[in-house]
Amino acid sequence: MRIDVVTLFPEWFEWFASQRHVANAVGLGHELGFVDLRASTPLNAGQVDDTPYGGGAGMVIRVDVVEAALEERYGAAPPPHRTVALSPGGKQFDDALASELAAEPALTLLCGRYEGFDERVNEHLATDVVSVGPYVLSGGEVAAMVVADAVIRKLPGALGHEESVVEESFSEALEGAPEYPHYTRPFEWRGHSVP
Ligand code: SAM
Repeated sequence: MRIDVVTLFPEWFEWFASQRHVANAVGLGHELGFVDLRASTPLNAGQVDDTPYGGGAGMVIRVDVVEAALEERYGAAPPPHRTVALSPGGKQFDDALASELAAEPALTLLCGRYEGFDERVNEHLATDVVSVGPYVLSGGEVAAMVVADAVIRKLPGALGHEESVVEESFSEALEGAPEYPHYTRPFEWRGHSVP
């Protein structure tokens, strides 16, 4: 599959891309790309955001800026594949959605910043609006890494030990339940032995 991350901070992903399972997936033919929102903005001086209609604090990422980035990358906005806008108010990310996304041929992750995206991005340029939890991060980059990590480790061959993915917390094999506890040596530790 191909995963593209649309972000104002592509350099955040250099470390992520160098991780073993991500590099394994790329070695197997999967692709991970980054689209810098500022690189294709139609506005002057790299502007990507604007003040909110109706007032209020903070800036909002403009819909025409996201549209321009998608058009430059795919020749179409919305793209012809699954496109996830990351937002604290979105649908809660879970193992079932990770499996669903891992089965897609392509996935675009849209990282917000500031007050977030103009709502028309969520409504008209994304297929899904997804939250990684009921808390607010400073930007969508860490959330995109959560989604990309959970998706990539489900790609056959990415982990190098397939059984770990099949029988894992929240997987179908465990009927959505957390995994059983694990123990390793020493058998006896400060009076606590392996049950
Ligand atoms: N004003 C927004 C609100 O109150 O819901 C928060 C915006 S947040 C500071 C900036 C960006 O971080 C969001 O547009 C989103 O892309 C990302 N973000 C923050 N928390 C997130 C979460 N829990 N899940 C997914 N994305 C999140």
